[in-house]
Amino acid sequence: MAKIAFLGLGAMGSRMARNLIAAGHELTVWNRDPQKAEALRDTGADAALTPRAAVADSDFVFSMLRDDAASRYVWLEARDGALGGLPDGAIAVDCSTLSVNWVQELAELCRRRNIVFIDAPVVGSRPQADARQLIFLAGGVAEAVSRTEAVLLHMGASVLHAGPNGAGAAAKLAVNTLFGIQVAVLAELIEAVRHRGFDPARLVELVSATPVCSPAAKAAAGAMLLDTFPPLFPIQIVEKDLGYALSIAETVDSTPLASAARNVFARAINAGHGADNITGVVRLYRQS
Ligand code: NAP
Repeated sequence: MAKIAFLGLGAMGSRMARNLIAAGHELTVWNRDPQKAEALRDTGADAALTPRAAVADSDFVFSMLRDDAASRYVWLEARDGALGGLPDGAIAVDCSTLSVNWVQELAELCRRRNIVFIDAPVVGSRPQADARQLIFLAGGVAEAVSRTEAVLLHMGASVLHAGPNGAGAAAKLAVNTLFGIQVAVLAELIEAVRHRGFDPARLVELVSATPVCSPAAKAAAGAMLLDTFPPLFPIQIVEKDLGYALSIAETVDSTPLASAARNVFARAINAGHGADNITGVVRLYRQS
């Protein structure tokens, strides 16, 4: 079993860290709000006061943070950042959904310190994290990815090697863009047929029975009909991810659909639905 530091214990990170502890690894955890790190002490983890203190002696360091700004702070902060404290030979793995540019910059900074870095964002949400069913999309040197795979498989069901650093981030942003576009258009269509006087539940049933409907779109459409939006994948995170997806392309002109979807989710945030699940975007089109 390995010595592991886990940085970032939000909705996803706390679940992933718990699964590593349950698998028998020795964990030191850190979170900006220290209460979330204290909560993991009961399960056998040590809680550190800074990212740098957490990573000392680690074989692997995982982070699961909100966005580029949080990741930059946690890895690079001048006094307390993790990068300054990583022991030689440790493998650094950021599992957050981040921009390709930032991931590549961080990989380069690690390389200059002779630290191997892997971007390994996840497909799956809180239920998949609980059930160790996450899919890791890994960017980095193949040999390092395979050395990390056994540990990743204590948090997920599979590890897919996407290519060099940044390729994991790009694949994850592609997945979320595809999903975001599907959910945004389903929201429009469900409410459009309702206004026409047709039964939206029947529409969802019929569309779901065809090969063009993905399993994820089918689940999202069902959730929109139920009218409850507990935040599995909150709209504010969706909008962040679509913004990062746009930055993969050189010009906005080459990402018209992703841009349109991002604008829809930004409208939903402005309308007060940012903390709702992605499916809450349907509220933009409700006429009651
Ligand atoms: P979350 O519950 O909001 O947790 C965010 C984490 O980032 C918390 O530990 C938070 O610390 C930390 N953080 C935020 N800003 C920070 C800063 N400036 N400095 C240091 N730490 C900071 O989010 P989540 O749902 O776990 O998502 C984490 C990552 O996974 C995101 O990149 C997200 O896009 C990705 N993801 C999410 C899902 C999902 O379904 N939710 C699925 C796949 C991937 P505090 O506790 O102190 O606020």
